[in-house]
Amino acid sequence: MRAVPDADVLERLRLTASTCTRCALAEGRTQVVFGVGDPGADLLFVGEGPGREEDLAGEPFVGRSGKLLDRLMWEEIGLTRAECYIANVVKCRPPNNRDPAPDEIEACRPYLAEQISVIDPLVIVTLGNFSTKLLLQTTRGIRELRGQVFERGRARLVPTYHPAYVLRAGGEAMAEMRADLVRAKRLVAAGRA
Ligand code: URA
Repeated sequence: MRAVPDADVLERLRLTASTCTRCALAEGRTQVVFGVGDPGADLLFVGEGPGREEDLAGEPFVGRSGKLLDRLMWEEIGLTRAECYIANVVKCRPPNNRDPAPDEIEACRPYLAEQISVIDPLVIVTLGNFSTKLLLQTTRGIRELRGQVFERGRARLVPTYHPAYVLRAGGEAMAEMRADLVRAKRLVAAGRA
């Protein structure tokens, strides 16, 4: 029997998610921001949740943070967003860009789990505290965890700062995020070898 291609499985999941009412974030969203990129990507980025611009565009990381992510991805890894996959912990915009609440993260968790299972990336880069804590099932913070590599199932997980934090902090945080992306690039190359 022919296996269903990853793109079709993800598309079905996107359609299911597009009418999701599992949590109260459904009430304030313009649309569900499912994810973007190559369903067969070796590299998956996971952010926190859509902001205002993402909610309007229906695509993750299209605002200022996203512009920085695109730039660092290109400069340090040599990839465009179309060659990776980008997803978030929660798929709907929290009002006023507040942090996602634990029940909202829990309600959305199966979508991210399924995205990871279908894409089956070699490397996952978590952007900031929310995705790092969720995917590593830890209460430890990003400052403590970044700079290290973790195993998560078949993938290597590289925690790094959220680009919004790097935009605020600049300097050393920017250099550390660049170093984390170089680490991710090397792990992808090693995984392909
Ligand atoms: N911040 C995130 O964590 N995700 C987005 O999609 C945009 C900003």
